[in-house]
Amino acid sequence: MFFNSLHHQSPSVDFKTATIQGQAPDGGLYFPERIPQLPAEIISRLESLSREEIAFQVIQPYVGDTIPENRLREIVSETIDFPIPLKKIHDHYYSLELFHGPTLAFKDIGARFMSRCLGHFAQEKKEPITVLVATSGDTGGAVASGFHQVDGVRVIILYPSGKVSSVQEKQLTTFGDNIHALEVQGNFDDCQHMVKQAFKDQELTKAIFLTSANSINVARWLPQQFYYFFALQQWKDQRPPVISVPSGNFGNICAGLMAWKAGLPVAHFIAACNANDVVPRFLETGKYLPLPAIPTISNAMDVGNPSNFVRILEIFGQDATALKGVVSSYRTSDERTRELIDAVYHQHSYLLDPHGAVAYDALHNWLTAHPEDKGIVLETAHPIKFLDVVEPVIKQSIPVPDAIGETLTKTKKVYLIGNKYEDLKAYLLDSNLF
Ligand SMILES: *Cc1c(COP(=O)(O)O)cnc(C)c1O
Repeated sequence: MFFNSLHHQSPSVDFKTATIQGQAPDGGLYFPERIPQLPAEIISRLESLSREEIAFQVIQPYVGDTIPENRLREIVSETIDFPIPLKKIHDHYYSLELFHGPTLAFKDIGARFMSRCLGHFAQEKKEPITVLVATSGDTGGAVASGFHQVDGVRVIILYPSGKVSSVQEKQLTTFGDNIHALEVQGNFDDCQHMVKQAFKDQELTKAIFLTSANSINVARWLPQQFYYFFALQQWKDQRPPVISVPSGNFGNICAGLMAWKAGLPVAHFIAACNANDVVPRFLETGKYLPLPAIPTISNAMDVGNPSNFVRILEIFGQDATALKGVVSSYRTSDERTRELIDAVYHQHSYLLDPHGAVAYDALHNWLTAHPEDKGIVLETAHPIKFLDVVEPVIKQSIPVPDAIGETLTKTKKVYLIGNKYEDLKAYLLDSNLF
């Protein structure tokens, strides 16, 4: 399988090169030359197959021969080494809980898969690989946990000082070893800008082999298809579900659409957004007008110009009408998000995190217009990650899950840095971290 750059100015590459490079040299995102179809006998027998077998079948056509089958099977089973249950919230509303991994967010799945693939490729390479990533919260922890102690790879995470939740900060600053956290005196846009500058700086990229670990990397994006199949494996109804996905950079929903293209029965997708509503506005008006990110309480979705939207357009051959037949998009305010966390908790004893609550609202909007449908909310994070938001709303404290109890007692280790690219460059060139 080859991957083409969506800017069409760089050569096609295999999975290994696409994973190591992250983005194509012409600045485009990689997209597979074709979307492999899953054999109908697999789709119709999902219940009788193991999760590991399904995941292997989904990803193998993309990976091709760049990773031997036995190693790929190991990587897949390590990636999904925790439950991903589908739970009923009430009536026609279900929740696919993607937060049972080590950092309690769905990003664990993509990060665990990518880190193991990159670790495999690093062994074949003589030079060490430096993963450079900016985070507004959940990415940092998932990447840190996924890459911790992977040989031949060091990870440098930039995060905005005081702008990630206390749990998120602990998750990205307490690993040590090959994981380095840089606390930036600035906001997320500064962090992202510094990282982008680094990738463009030829003096730096000659000295250090740099790659990124954000959701544009095919090795993080494509394994996110797995849990759409696991949702259908647990779905008891004849009618396929509507799936509501809390969306920021649109990598998650884009993976769902790849699964649907591969043959998975899904009735409809909803891209649930907060005040950052460039996609809902595009579907209403036909105009794609990116804006600076607006801060909200569902902060992992505070993205003004979602990178993966170009891949969604590619799936639909740039045809907005075809896209609208399969995908709707809906916007939810912070006020409504809080109201729903409270209502769903007190009426149905189900605690949503702010991102799940946005998806719940979008699904509610759909089911009101289509009462015969049933739907699934992707619960992308455990509410404990947003206890600063959730606890005051439900007026109760949330018990700390075992998975992170220990992390919260560890000491933060960071390197403080300014918000200029030169600060980052000096750090990268001076520090002898290998
Ligand atoms: C990253 C994140 C999202 C947004 O996912 P995208 O793939 O960027 O659309 C939603 N919810 C949570 C909790 C996240 O961490």
